[in-house]
Amino acid sequence: MRDPILVINCGSSSIKYAVVSDAPSQPRQSGLAERLGGGDARLKGMDADGHEFSRPLHGADHTEAMAAILDALSGPAPAAVGHRIVHGGERFTAATRIDPAVLRAIESTGALAPLHNPANLVGVRATLELFPELPQIAVFDTAFHQSLPPRAYRYALPQHLYARHGIRRYGFHGSSHAYVSERVDHLSSRPHGGWLTAHLGNGCSTCAVWQGRSVDTSMGLTPLEGLVMGTRSGDVDPGLHAHLSRQLGWSLERIDTLLNRESGLLGLSGLSNDMRRLEQAAAEHHRGAELAIEVFCYRIAKSLAALSCALPRLDGIVFTGGIGENASAVRARVVEALPHFGLRLSAAANAATVGGQEGRIDADDSGPELWVIPTDEEGQIAFETRQLLSEAPA
Ligand code: ADP
Repeated sequence: MRDPILVINCGSSSIKYAVVSDAPSQPRQSGLAERLGGGDARLKGMDADGHEFSRPLHGADHTEAMAAILDALSGPAPAAVGHRIVHGGERFTAATRIDPAVLRAIESTGALAPLHNPANLVGVRATLELFPELPQIAVFDTAFHQSLPPRAYRYALPQHLYARHGIRRYGFHGSSHAYVSERVDHLSSRPHGGWLTAHLGNGCSTCAVWQGRSVDTSMGLTPLEGLVMGTRSGDVDPGLHAHLSRQLGWSLERIDTLLNRESGLLGLSGLSNDMRRLEQAAAEHHRGAELAIEVFCYRIAKSLAALSCALPRLDGIVFTGGIGENASAVRARVVEALPHFGLRLSAAANAATVGGQEGRIDADDSGPELWVIPTDEEGQIAFETRQLLSEAPA
């Protein structure tokens, strides 16, 4: 199928879109409708000629914003729509064509992702209304990690919580980990091996991939578990909740806000959740920024070392996401914190591989390889959409 795929990532007040065609040389039409429902709603993006545009949407809801996005598109009409859906629970192990039963199943998984799945579904419904004739495919953030074995996905909790309520580790950022691990398999001289992938953006997670399948990952029941992130704490002592409740009288909502919105790089630095800002401040010896970067890097290394237990053999590490693709100093610190892994970084290659460059950054005498691979979650969603439709045409 050579026609483009429209990829939609719908949040509670925003819709991100991209038109992914099979001809990679074309500039990709993409954009963001934001602040939906508000008087200052806007659509901004890039057109097919690579020119940026921005226009007001004046209080548009999701369906009106979708119509404005369609209006902004040029070139061949999309052949299908691929939707990013955050949580697929245990039911969805791969991309799935959306029909009424699938919609109901995504809805019932909403309890596991109360902030994300309902917002994703608003985008699905708006698109179904506007394109009733087009195939719509759900691509789940959790699906890539459905290959985890029980030893990696079970919490040490009474089993009825798993059996009756689905409480287990699911993992997220699946499209990103799938994309970069497939890409490194293609680029490396050691295909189908054992890779550790580190997606470092505003949200951060690591993944162990053995022969193309996720075998462990750092996020869990929710995207809060694991690494230090922009505003999320990542792992804390599970006793923290009871402690804050007993000692400070904090409610669950207050603790949830603390861990999801006030912690991570922002909380540690007291300054910002943005790595660029922190690197500047650390260069000027801001203590909070220095500490935030130090903890961030140490925790990535610690997570990679832990996940290496899931691999029969370690062939290399892949960095991706806004920080992984650009912050060469962060990559250097992570490698430095794993001295027993036999990794050797090429300082020159590391410094040069930024700003969307793809490449290998290890020195000749490195044991495992080191790679920077810019992620392409939209490309992966389009790829899985296309693959599903070519396997099972309408
Ligand atoms: P999201 O998870 O929202 O998609 P991104 O993958 O875009 O986020 O990553 C955002 C993070 O990447 C921010 O912390 C930002 O500061 C960081 N980042 C982007 N460019 C650079 C850079 N040149 N140097 C250091 N950090 C960067």
